[in-house]
Amino acid sequence: MSPPRAVLAVAVETPRHSAVGGLLDYLGEPSLAPGTLVRVPLGKREVAGIVWDRDPDAEPAPAETLRPLGAALDALPPLPADWRALVAFAAGYYQRGLGELALAVLPPELRKLDATQLARRLARLRKAEAAAGAQPVPAPPRPALTDEQAAALAALAGADRPLLLHGVTGSGKTEVYLRAAEAALAGGGQALVLVPEINLTPQLEARFAERFPGRRLVSLHSGLTPAQRLRHWLLAHLGLADLVLGTRLAVFAPLPRLALIVVDEEHDASFKQQEGARYSARDLAVWRAHQRRLPVILGSATPSLETWQHALQGRYRRLPLAARIGGGTMPAVRVLDMGLLPREAGKERVLAPALLAAIEQRLARGEQSLLLLNRRGYAPVLHCGACGWKSACPHCSAWRVFHKADRSLRCHHCGFAERVPRACPDCGNLDIAPLGRGTEKLQEQLAELLPQARVARIDADSTRAAGSLQAQLQAVHAGEVDLLVGTQMLAKGHDFRRVTLVAAVNPDAALFSSDFRGPERLFALLLQAAGRAGRDAAQAARSEMFVQTHHPQHPLFDALRRHDFAAFAAAQLGERRAAGLPPFAALALLRADARDADTARAFLQDAAHAVAADAAALGITLYPPVPPPLARLAGVERMQMLLECGSRTALQRLLAGWLPTLQAHRARHKGLLRWAVDVDPLGI
Ligand SMILES: [Zn+2]
Ligand SMILES: [Zn+2]
Repeated sequence: MSPPRAVLAVAVETPRHSAVGGLLDYLGEPSLAPGTLVRVPLGKREVAGIVWDRDPDAEPAPAETLRPLGAALDALPPLPADWRALVAFAAGYYQRGLGELALAVLPPELRKLDATQLARRLARLRKAEAAAGAQPVPAPPRPALTDEQAAALAALAGADRPLLLHGVTGSGKTEVYLRAAEAALAGGGQALVLVPEINLTPQLEARFAERFPGRRLVSLHSGLTPAQRLRHWLLAHLGLADLVLGTRLAVFAPLPRLALIVVDEEHDASFKQQEGARYSARDLAVWRAHQRRLPVILGSATPSLETWQHALQGRYRRLPLAARIGGGTMPAVRVLDMGLLPREAGKERVLAPALLAAIEQRLARGEQSLLLLNRRGYAPVLHCGACGWKSACPHCSAWRVFHKADRSLRCHHCGFAERVPRACPDCGNLDIAPLGRGTEKLQEQLAELLPQARVARIDADSTRAAGSLQAQLQAVHAGEVDLLVGTQMLAKGHDFRRVTLVAAVNPDAALFSSDFRGPERLFALLLQAAGRAGRDAAQAARSEMFVQTHHPQHPLFDALRRHDFAAFAAAQLGERRAAGLPPFAALALLRADARDADTARAFLQDAAHAVAADAAALGITLYPPVPPPLARLAGVERMQMLLECGSRTALQRLLAGWLPTLQAHRARHKGLLRWAVDVDPLGI
């Protein structure tokens, strides 16, 4: 073998925000194509790297200072140019190291294999796929399209911009996805379908598998074993999979024949990664579609206000699906004023009499009711009436939640759990009592109020064991449950045929949330929950949604009553415009974590000082550092600083120049644990 001659740029996972941007020079065979997976020496270790496109203007380091590459894993086709462009864009936009992001979005298993192991894996995979072969399978019958669905599909054919499929629950968005995928596959393409949650993949997977029996369909999400994830990723990258269904990480799947991207429930917060590179898979999907000149469908009944604003401006095209399949109507919404109820001495009202009567009616008719309470556990806090003690978490600025089932006090933020004390830890009072109500308590109260009803609870606690969610949903579908109590988990996607009543038991907290997106999320949740009722057209006419509130005059409930998303969005956008908030401004957060709040604040102030002049020149507002709503988490003090600007480009320019200097500043702040920037943060 001839000695390696060329200088090659390689993306490697370097410590974040270190001086090296992620591309390092090595000596290697000039024939190694960009995108080839390689092993390279880094310090004393050998790590995975990806040969990257070399900037032709960059001055190469003197060859004698460079180390040679290790093995090339060239049995794997190089990661294609469009994939490298996507990764480079995401790293730049979200302010992360290129190598860090590039390696982080590969299946972890891939980074561990050596050349021989990988070649063997690939050979086995190709052999298995060839043996399975493509048997021609007759296409199953398809439902006839409604006029609205047909119009949406017609628009897809010549789409020159992202499409917003704005369809109420039950309006047949999935059929549009299926037909769009059919067209993409017929043209020899691959389709990528993104969903917000792993829980929602099985039913969508089933529908796609049923529609495309002869086609290769794979899923990509964090619930797969490392071996499965690698296999599915390889099938996508090799072009052997026709359909890829996945959660946000799937947006980075290399797909050589990609012809369509679908983002279902595009408004869902789960599309934004909340650690490491805090990317938005929805926004990257739009970028990727634009780059490849292919159609992207964003589907939702309650689009994000960003997407809605794009549609209003004509940057996205809105395709309405206003009618429910089968002609069913959305349930009538009844807002119950809890302030009007007479207070019974010493007793708290669980359900307003009108709601209780409506539930009894469903029981008598053998129909199901769904009660939504966005708070799990028995009670959010335990309280001592004698001395005022409350069940605070010693590690977080939060209360520990009382779980009656296992008599524990659990912090939902750091996980710290203890058995419930027999007496008040401060004064010894034996009479410590739960305050407020969570799903466990609601379940218990319902059992008392309606002893004849079969009550089930679905939340993160009741579905922790593998398979238990599916089993519980099965019981609901089989009609073994009359009353279903649960958190927002219940509102998403599930198709409950027997539910004719949905109630939001106590949604008020979200109305006055400190997060400017609070009302947007609440409206989406309630409208989505409303959509759970009356999925069966025959029952739609007598379906109802109840909302218990102390603020019945709130405009949000008014829009909900009329199922009027456009009116709600117009009011919210008016407020956002006046307040200079997204989508009318671009935001970024600089976060700092430290053992004490002063250190975190000092780092942020130092950072602000360093950039104050540039920020002023670019028209960027720097707000003073403040603690986030959860200021202390697992013993760590957190602070954040908001940057706001009317121009996304100006903000990007500032961040790109600022971040390298922050690393240098870091050393000046002993006790600083970590810092990170969050571009387009979901919450502030
Ligand atoms: Zn006490
Ligand atoms: Zn905690």
